[in-house]
Amino acid sequence: MRAAVYEGPRTVTVKDVPDARIEHPTDILVKITSTNICGSDLHMYEGRTSFETGRTLGHENLGQVVEVGKAVGKVKVGDWVVLPFNIACGFCKQCEQGLTSYCLTMQPDPGKAGAAYGFAEMGPYQGGQAELLRVPYGDFNALRLGEDAAERQLDYVMLADIFPTGYHATEMAGVKPGDQTLVYGAGPVGLMAAYSALLKGAGRVWVADHQPDRLRLAEEIGAIPVNTAEEDPAEVVKEATLGLGADNGCECVGYQAHDPQGREDGTLTMNGLIDAVRFTGGLGVVGVFLPEDPGAADTQGKAEAQGKMPIDFGMLWFKGLKVGTGQAPVKRYNRALRDLIAGGKAEPGFLVSHELDLDEAPSAYEHFDNRDDGWTKVVLHP
Ligand code: NAD
Ligand code: ZN
Repeated sequence: MRAAVYEGPRTVTVKDVPDARIEHPTDILVKITSTNICGSDLHMYEGRTSFETGRTLGHENLGQVVEVGKAVGKVKVGDWVVLPFNIACGFCKQCEQGLTSYCLTMQPDPGKAGAAYGFAEMGPYQGGQAELLRVPYGDFNALRLGEDAAERQLDYVMLADIFPTGYHATEMAGVKPGDQTLVYGAGPVGLMAAYSALLKGAGRVWVADHQPDRLRLAEEIGAIPVNTAEEDPAEVVKEATLGLGADNGCECVGYQAHDPQGREDGTLTMNGLIDAVRFTGGLGVVGVFLPEDPGAADTQGKAEAQGKMPIDFGMLWFKGLKVGTGQAPVKRYNRALRDLIAGGKAEPGFLVSHELDLDEAPSAYEHFDNRDDGWTKVVLHP
């Protein structure tokens, strides 16, 4: 089968690899028809992680079931399914609580938790930027879609990661109807966080970024764009709220936050939120924080190597802010978000800027990694 394979820093090649196949009776095999490139793929693409060369990328996948293992009871051949990026067992201590992003069974390293398709540090599983994908525990890890799936793939494929991830940011931040919310990052994840806050009935949502094309999208969905090249988001929000601050904030940028000097500085967005959110408000941090030294993950890819950042903890404490962090447990939100799409209440596919053939993955990675104008979200069709 054809697959987009990581060959080293900033090198992805589409080539023939052995076909994915059923390996366990609980597996299903899915013919992938839509698979996205994610901001998280770029950490691996840029060579900042321990991701092995020769491995297939891709954790935002949708397609049609072509084969099921002997122990699969619910999912049937022919079903259209979207696959949450977290691979989970459904029966460990974490999964029982809905924390599928910290599943203990699918992660082979006892010092870690959580697994995903085509992801560094998240188990040995291949990605779905390929013609076929093996899905472990298919009954648990596939969300079945309705008859409109084939026509509405661009909306439904966002359920694999970024729609639930954006929603998770708003849940951790505690966004409620009427709230005033500041989102850092107008990338796909930030736009989905803003979209989720608006779906929940937030009163005002500001989205901060320096990319005009992405800020335009934020405005189109009803958020207030803040261009960080011109304004300080915390000041904008405080001024608009009579000095009180936002009720909550979402961090959707991560450790590669860009500062005006061109450095990478994850403290910018965190300290911006600590400044902008009112006393006892909430922060949802879904942006990824990796070690500062790009090589560090290779040699010490364990918890102790995760990025250390001087955030203003004193102010965080003084304000009594609540903070939620980490990878989104996609399954927790997926049925509800699917049914918002099915009912015509949500159309997250508005993000898609490029639909391309899988063979175009190498140049798509390059454009998306450069954050080239207009490259908001790429969907590949194997
Ligand atoms: P992206 O890189 O396309 O978007 C990031 C955006 O942040 C860009 O538009 C960039 O211009 C903007 N930005 C950079 N510096 C900024 C600053 N100082 N202030 C405001 N905006 C700034 O990526 P994405 O796909 O939207 O993902 C965003 C983050 O979320 C990444 O770190 C990604 O790995 C992470 N992520 C987390 C989860 C999860 O489960 N927690 C899931 C998916 C993605
Ligand atoms: Zn993703």
